[in-house]
Amino acid sequence: ATPMSIMVAVGQGARLGVLVKDAAALERLADVDTLVVDKTGTLTAGRAEVVDVHLLPGFGRAEVLAAAAAVERGSAHPLARAVLAAAGDTPLDDVVGFDAPAGRGVRGVVAGRAVLLGNADLLREDGVDGTPLDEPAAAARRGGATAVLVALDGEPAAVLEVADPVREDAAATVGGLRAGGWDVVMLTGDDPATAAAVARRLGIERVEAGLRPEDKARIVGELRAAGRVVAMAGDGVNDAPALAAADVGVALGSGTDVAIESAGITLLHGDLGGLLRARDLSRRTMRNIR
Ligand code: ADP
Ligand code: MG
Repeated sequence: ATPMSIMVAVGQGARLGVLVKDAAALERLADVDTLVVDKTGTLTAGRAEVVDVHLLPGFGRAEVLAAAAAVERGSAHPLARAVLAAAGDTPLDDVVGFDAPAGRGVRGVVAGRAVLLGNADLLREDGVDGTPLDEPAAAARRGGATAVLVALDGEPAAVLEVADPVREDAAATVGGLRAGGWDVVMLTGDDPATAAAVARRLGIERVEAGLRPEDKARIVGELRAAGRVVAMAGDGVNDAPALAAADVGVALGSGTDVAIESAGITLLHGDLGGLLRARDLSRRTMRNIR
């Protein structure tokens, strides 16, 4: 049976913006020593914005953005919202054959044209030579932006430089968790260069990039097998397997339903600082019980 004090803590959590679905998760949180955390939408605000469009010769900005936005209409990813906003009120064509391979991007056919946008993996998978995009992509990543690669009819066309500011409380939260004895590991499907730039800004030393959803879950499993007690924080569909694989899954309330369903704890309003409050609440509660 769940002790009364846990129930009380669950209630306190709610007032702190920490929604506890699984009381056992709140109990386990006191023993966590490692936080595995997603980048996009979790450490970053998920308020991504297209700040630049780098075009290869022969392609136009309006053409690229309209094709890209038409396909992104089918995606709930923060990057999709950024691309749609960049296209403004341009009328968008219908898409056929829409597909969104998790953690890689989207594809579809727009007005008879094959449109592909996402990371280098996705282009490679579809047999597109992305080499001409390497240089503008690298420049974008050095500043911590995400380079969304666009191919039209199998030809590399553009790099959308998407900036997603880190959450206001991200550095303080990471600092507080580390000071409290937690190791922090960033996991991301984004490129290593972008990931490293963001990690540096937040004081995160360990980063694993270019990951697919199943890789994130595998790394959580490996850490647990090595004796770590792991909390995983994430927001996306791509984080769901890792959230479920962790000792404690923590979803951002701003995240997708699938993430929230996979997690025992949800931080309301996408307030990352709720992690610190949740940890302290759990430690206090468990100290009183033990
Ligand atoms: P993270 O793990 O940081 O949350 P994701 O796994 O969601 O990142 O995405 C990994 C990468 O896949 C992104 O950096 C991007 O390059 C690409 N990607 C994913 N979804 C989309 C999308 N809807 N549009 C464009 N690119 C995408
Ligand atoms: Mg994410």
